[in-house]
Amino acid sequence: MVTLEKQAAPNTAQTWQQTQIEVKNPVTGQVIGSVPAMNADDVRQAATKARAAQPAWEVRGAKERAALLRRWADMLWDDQKTAIQKVRAETGKNEIGAWLEVFVVDNVVAYYHKHAAHLLRPQGRRSLIPMKQTARVYYKAHGVAGFITPWNYPLNNAMIDLIPALIAGNTVLLKPSEITPYTAIYAIELMYKAGIPRDVIQVVTGAGVTGAALVDVVDYISFTGSTATGRKIAMRAAERLIPCSLELGGKDPLIVLNDADVNLAAAGTLVGALENCGQVCISTERVYVEDGIYDQYVERIKYYADQLTLGSGDGFDVHVGSLTNEREILRAEQQVADAVAKGATVIHGGKRRPDLGPLFYEPTILTGVNHNMDVMREETFGPLIPVMRVKDANEAIKLANDNQYGLSASIFTSDLKRGEQLATRIESGDVCVNATQWVFGTISLPMGGVKNSGMGRRNGPEGLMRFVKPQSVLVDNQLMQKPNLTLGDPFAIRVALLLRSIRRAIPFLGV
Ligand code: NAD
Repeated sequence: MVTLEKQAAPNTAQTWQQTQIEVKNPVTGQVIGSVPAMNADDVRQAATKARAAQPAWEVRGAKERAALLRRWADMLWDDQKTAIQKVRAETGKNEIGAWLEVFVVDNVVAYYHKHAAHLLRPQGRRSLIPMKQTARVYYKAHGVAGFITPWNYPLNNAMIDLIPALIAGNTVLLKPSEITPYTAIYAIELMYKAGIPRDVIQVVTGAGVTGAALVDVVDYISFTGSTATGRKIAMRAAERLIPCSLELGGKDPLIVLNDADVNLAAAGTLVGALENCGQVCISTERVYVEDGIYDQYVERIKYYADQLTLGSGDGFDVHVGSLTNEREILRAEQQVADAVAKGATVIHGGKRRPDLGPLFYEPTILTGVNHNMDVMREETFGPLIPVMRVKDANEAIKLANDNQYGLSASIFTSDLKRGEQLATRIESGDVCVNATQWVFGTISLPMGGVKNSGMGRRNGPEGLMRFVKPQSVLVDNQLMQKPNLTLGDPFAIRVALLLRSIRRAIPFLGV
C-alpha cells in the first residue's frame, strides 16, 4: 500500500530491479517525488487482501456502498482545490481542465448513487410455466476488479470506472500510470477517510510490468490506455478467461457541413482539439470541411486560434496548458514534418514554446492534408488540427470511416435531423452533433470504442453491468407434478403448449 508520504514517476519502462519510479512536474521539469515499483509478489499480496475483503463488502448492499461513494465525492468536491493542484502538478494541464476532472467524477458518483441499486436488483423474468415456475436473475460481483489507467486524466480515468465496480460489490486494485500516480493516491486516501475499508480499494504503483502482474491476479480487468498495450492485456485476459473492457486510442473526425454556423464550428473545433492540449482519447484529430464553407471556416479557425491563451497560469481563461510528456511533442513534430514533406501547409503554430516551459507546443493548424499523411491516419495525442476540404457529406463520412479507430466523432450542421441521421453512418462509439466530447460528460450515455478503439463501455447502465455476472435462478413449486423420469413432465408440457397457443392467438395478453 502506498501512502501520500511515499510519493511518484517517469516515462521509463520499469524493470523488476527498479525499486522506485520518479514523478516529474512537466511545467518545471522538477522531480516531485517517487513511488515504489511494485513487483509481482507485492501485487499478489494486495490481491489476497482484496479477495479476503470482498465477501463482506458485497454483503453490505449497493445502497450502502453507493452512500459511501457519495460521501467520498462530497469530500472530494469540498477539497477540490487540493485535487486540482494534484492533477496540475503531475500533468501540467490548465486549471479548467483539472476542475473538469473533479466535476466529471462528481457526476459519475451522482449517476450511480441514483441508479445503481435499481439496476443491480434481482430481476424477475418470464418463466415457461408461470404458475409453476418463477425465474429470476441475480447480479453478483466478479470478485477482485483490476484497473490500469493512463496519465492524461489522472483523476477521471483512474476513478470513473472503479466507482461502479465498487458499488457493484467488487473490491478493487488500481494501477495508475507511473507518470501520474499521486492524484490517484490522494483520491484513494480520501476514500479511506470517507469510510471505505483499506482492503476494499488499494493502489499498486509501478509501470508496465506491475500492470501485467495485476492482470494475472484479478477476476476482471478494466484497461484505459493505448491500443498496443490494450491488445496485450486482452490476450492475457483471454488466456486466463477473465472478462475485460478496453478503452483505447482514437483518431476522431469532425465534419463541418455547408449549412453549419461557421463561427461555432471553428471555435468548437479548437475546443475539441485542444482540451488537455489534445492529449484526450476523444480529441478531435482530423477535420473534414465541405467545399462550400471551407474558405470561410479556415479564416475563422485562424481568427479564433489567434485569441488562444497558452501558459501555466491559474484561472479558467488559460485555454491551453503544457503537454505532459516529451513523447507527445516528438510525435506531433514527426507528424507535422511528415505532412509538410508531403505537401501540407502550417497555417497556425507549429513550434515548441520553451519560453513557457519545457513541454509547451503551439496549437497547430494544417491545411492541404490528405490520407497519405500520418497526421490523418495515426493517433496524434497533441495539439494538431489537420483540415481537409471535401466535396460533400458522403465523402466526409467515407473519409471519417477510413481509419483503424472508432472512438468518437462530431458533425457541425444547422440541420439537426440530418446531423443525427448522418451520425449513425459514422463507425464510432459515439457522435456529437454541434458539440465535441460532451458524450463523455453525459454519464447516462455509454462511452467506448469500436474497431481498434476498444471494447466494452463505461458510463450508463452498461458501465455498471459489466462489473457483475448474472446468475439465473429457477424455482419450481411442483404444482400438479408427479414423479417422472424425463424432463417432459406431462402436466408442464400441457401447460406450455396451452400457453403457446394463447400467445399466438391473443398476443396482447402477454402470457
Ligand atoms: P499506455 O498504454 O502506455 O499505458 C497505460 C497504462 O498501461 C499505464 O498505467 C501503463 O503503466 C500500463 N501498461 C503499460 N504496459 C503494460 C503491460 N504490458 N501490461 C499491463 N499494463 C501496462 O498508454 P498511455 O500513454 O498512458 O495513455 C495514452 C493512450 O491512452 C492513448 O492512446 C489514448 O488514446 C488512450 N486513452 C484512451 C481513453 C479511452 O477512454 N478510450 C482514455 C484515455 C486515454
